Amino acid sequence: MHGKVLVIDPIATNRIVLRVKLAASHYNMLQASSIAEAVNVLSQETPDLILCAGVLPDGDPLGLLARVRKMGLAGKMPIIVLNCVDNEAERLRLLAGGIDDVLQKPINDALLLARTRSIIRAYATASEWILREGTSRALGFGEAVANFSPAQTVRIVAENPAVADPWIDALSNRISATTVFTKPATAVSETAPGRTPDAFVLVIGPDEGPQMLQLLATIRSQANTRHCAILVMLDGEQATLGAQMLDMGANDLMRCTRSSEELALRLEALLSRKLVTDSLRDTVRSGIEAAVIDPLTGLHNRRYAMPHLARIAERAARTGKPYAVMVADMDHFKRINDTLGHAAGDAVLIEAGRRLKENLRAVDLVARIGGEEFLIVLPGVDLVNARKAAKRLCEIIQTTPFELPDGTSPVDATISIGMTVVDPVGGTKTSVAQTPQALLDRADKALYGAKAKGRNRVILSRPAA
Ligand code: GH3
Ligand code: MG
Ligand code: MG
Repeated sequence: MHGKVLVIDPIATNRIVLRVKLAASHYNMLQASSIAEAVNVLSQETPDLILCAGVLPDGDPLGLLARVRKMGLAGKMPIIVLNCVDNEAERLRLLAGGIDDVLQKPINDALLLARTRSIIRAYATASEWILREGTSRALGFGEAVANFSPAQTVRIVAENPAVADPWIDALSNRISATTVFTKPATAVSETAPGRTPDAFVLVIGPDEGPQMLQLLATIRSQANTRHCAILVMLDGEQATLGAQMLDMGANDLMRCTRSSEELALRLEALLSRKLVTDSLRDTVRSGIEAAVIDPLTGLHNRRYAMPHLARIAERAARTGKPYAVMVADMDHFKRINDTLGHAAGDAVLIEAGRRLKENLRAVDLVARIGGEEFLIVLPGVDLVNARKAAKRLCEIIQTTPFELPDGTSPVDATISIGMTVVDPVGGTKTSVAQTPQALLDRADKALYGAKAKGRNRVILSRPAA
């Protein structure tokens, strides 16, 4: 990974040592010996990470953070403090003040590089979501998802409950999230959808490295746990294992010998960061959905339907399987609007869409491609079955009158369907795929026929030459 790292240390040899270590991993190195110099650098460059000595000539790391915030760069880059003395109170003060991590010298090289990679990656991911959310907003559909703070949960994973219990007890009045114990074997399997924890704390005993690495890989690979925060607690130094864990997607690392206060601070930071990225991700996702979903009926819209039809056509050409394309249009819909009002018309459209969807398979496509016009695609369905399906759709619209929102007597409605079926003779594979527009045109032509012949019926287009 290429990135820029700013090293702030008053001692030149310290800067040189770090420069050599990190330059070997292809980072571009920037240097400063004081906060004032760092501010100068930051006014021209945006590093991906700041590595900062614990003591600076013109202040401390929190003083630096204050300047970074004042420059509008807060949250843009992580700050890691490299401390010379193992002073717990100082470490807690820095973590509580918003420093991303505090590492103790001497620092294992592999661990330092892994931590550097992991923290740069975390910030890059967050800024990617921020960017995408901005794009969604710019496109006009990224309505912010309701920003309530859900109750968060943390799973403390350990082989032995006696190891986890003291942490759970200590955390109970320090963080707002609920903490529960699980064994490694059931840590992921018991996460039913909707009950996914927000964070895992993996407490790793002396010989439990391989098993926990496996678990970490599983958490990162499964769809429902992929976005969970992971904090790894190591028994003793275990630098190689720690580095491996970070490279495999752990978000933070601390020694088992450290205080529960420190665990609480690190967990809170992970949980609040997760809340932000979750909400950004939801906004982007709902934005993407909004772009392809028709807001009135909840069905897919034309923007989704046409490329989807193209893919069905391509696959059918490859496999030699048949498929049916229908255009269903409400009959005399203008009358419904004119006599009962637009709201009544909307209610009929919503219900018609619901009935069509409900009476087809999940693999079938039902999209609203015009005012009162639906595109229906049935993959793998031949002429005989497509005709049956289309007739059934006409019936389910015609037989039950539509309820209206104002409670007035239900109204009758019908649809006409124009249909074309592509059925390669003898299942010829790799024939040329029909274009979505050509398919639509054929179904449309058949639809005109259905209207001309009196509506509430299915007409099949003549097969393509
Ligand atoms: P035909 O049987 O020939 O299809 O007649 P029609 O009246 O259905 O066809 P026409 O295309 O003349 O009118 C379609 C009507 O659908 C006109 C328009 O007001 C109405 N419409 C289109 N979109 C909506 C909508 O979102 N809500 C409501 N309520 N009406 C809509
Ligand atoms: Mg119509
Ligand atoms: Mg129409």
